[in-house]
Parts: sequence; C-alpha cells; structure tokens
Amino acid sequence: MTGGRGAPLVDLHAHTLASDGGDRPEELVAAAAAAGVATLAVTDHDTVAAVAGARAAGERLGVEVLAGCELTATVGDRVVHVLLYGEGLLEPDLADAVEVARRGRDDRNQAIGERLERLCGVGHADAVEVAGASALSRAHFARAMVARGVVADVAEAFDRYLSSGRPAYVPAPGVPLTEAVAIAAKAGGVAVLAHPGRLAAGERDRVLDEAIEAGIDGVEVWHSQHDAGLRRSLAGLVGRRGLLATGGSDYHGRHKPDVRIGTGRDDNVAVPTEHLDALRDRLATGGPA
Ligand code: AMP
Ligand code: MN
Ligand code: MN
Ligand code: MN
Repeated sequence: MTGGRGAPLVDLHAHTLASDGGDRPEELVAAAAAAGVATLAVTDHDTVAAVAGARAAGERLGVEVLAGCELTATVGDRVVHVLLYGEGLLEPDLADAVEVARRGRDDRNQAIGERLERLCGVGHADAVEVAGASALSRAHFARAMVARGVVADVAEAFDRYLSSGRPAYVPAPGVPLTEAVAIAAKAGGVAVLAHPGRLAAGERDRVLDEAIEAGIDGVEVWHSQHDAGLRRSLAGLVGRRGLLATGGSDYHGRHKPDVRIGTGRDDNVAVPTEHLDALRDRLATGGPA
C-alpha cells in the first residue's frame, strides 16, 4: 500500500507502547504520515499516556491527532472493548479514571503465567521477553508459546489455552460498560463499541443491544477484522439507531505485522468523511463537563 494516494485517510484506532503496540508515539505518527493518514486517534488500552507525545509529533508531521483510549469494559460477565474519544480525557481526573483496568492487569498477567507454566512450561518471564517495552497482553503469551513450539500459531494458542473458557484464561479487570459511558460523558466525549466482529456471532446482537441500552454513542463499523457483510450490517444498525459510526485499523506495529496503519488488512478501513464530520460535531458540542 503506498501512502498519499487518493483522499487522505482517517484512522481512529491505533496503539503505541503505552499499551500493547510496538511503536513509540512519534513512530506511530510517522507511520501514519507515511501511509497518508491525515487524522489519527491514539487509542491505547486503558490509558491516554501516549496522546500528548503523539500530538507533538503530529504537529511536526502534519497529522491531526485525536485524544482517545480503548477501555476494557464488562457487560455482565463478558469483556468488551469501548473506544472513548474526547479532549476531556486528558484532564487529570479522567486520565486517572481510564487507568482503572490497567492497574489490575499485572495481577492478571501473573495468574495467566502461573497457569501456562503448569500447562505447557511457558511462563510470565517468556511473555515479558516477547513484549519487550510493550505492555504485556495475552498476545505476547501466545507468541511466546509459538516461539517455544508449544503451538503452531497464535490462533492455536488462543483456541487451546488463552481464549475465554480455555484453561489459561483469566478474566481481564474492567469497568462496567455504563461506567465507561459515564467517563466519556464527563469528558464531553463519546463511547463507541469497538470491533463487534471480534464477538462470537451468536452473542454479537445481544451485546450490541446491551451496549445501546447502556447508552453507547457509536459502533466501530470499519475495522481490520470486519468483512464487507459485517460492515454493511453494522452501518445499517447505526443508521437505524441514530448512532455514530467510526473505524480504524487497530494498528499494533510489529506486534500485529499484518495490520497496516490507515488501511488495516485488506484496505478495508476507510472511514467516510461524513462519519468523521459527525464525530467532530459531537466532540465539539460536548466539551468537558
Ligand atoms: P489482553 O488484553 O491481555 O486480553 O489480550 C488481548 C490481545 O490478544 C489483543 O492484542 C488481541 O488482539 C489478542 N487476541 C485476543 N483474542 C485473540 C484470538 N482469538 N486470536 C488472536 N489474537 C487474539
Ligand atoms: Mn491490543
Ligand atoms: Mn480491542
Ligand atoms: Mn485496539
């Protein structure tokens, strides 16, 4: 994919080393600029720590950087990801509020490591080595298992060990979805249900209903893991329910080498301008409470 061709790209979902991405904030923005991304939201898991650094780089490189994060949230006993967008997230009290789930992650990773060590001899230290400077996640445990030859690939590591219901699974600490929506409102921002395509088809509609019930402002329609059929059906849903439609690559740098900034996997992440404009309108009228 060459950058700079056609309309400027909009990517509203990307990670840095502040969570489980592989790039420093300025590296992320340089990659975005090279790919032709004009508007980039930095959405690390449970932190806004990289936004300021990315924005400084964006000013040098001509990339507009929107403040955001991807909160780990719970709906009943299910974990979902919720993208929050809004300048108010940078206020100290809200920047602290989004870190709730992050603070519980160390204990969770230790517990996953203890289970895996017993199950297949790959432990916490192996995953830390894979993660390097990046915040540890299940993806790193999976890659450590591949490196040790315990499984053939990352998918098998999740299917056999790490996914919900499998023997090394430990639930991620999260904030209730209603609380995630409340944090966004306090920030004068919006809360968007991330990648519904990652949910099992059988529970997707129920989670979407529950998220709308909880006051979600939008749904991530375009995503590197959403095929054309799903994008169409989600676009239909947001249209009927009067919700915002967002999208992004979910770029993680070298930690997910098949996902490219701005375009995702199959050039299928292109947020239409009218949807970016609708988001901008909401962010402009919101203002920190
Ligand atoms: P964590 O935040 O520790 O729960 O780990 C989430 C990470 O694991 C993210 O990078 C996900 O993309 C990745 N992940 C979750 N489920 C799967 C799966 N079934 N196959 C591959 N990667 C996955
Ligand atoms: Mn991630
Ligand atoms: Mn996610
Ligand atoms: Mn993400």
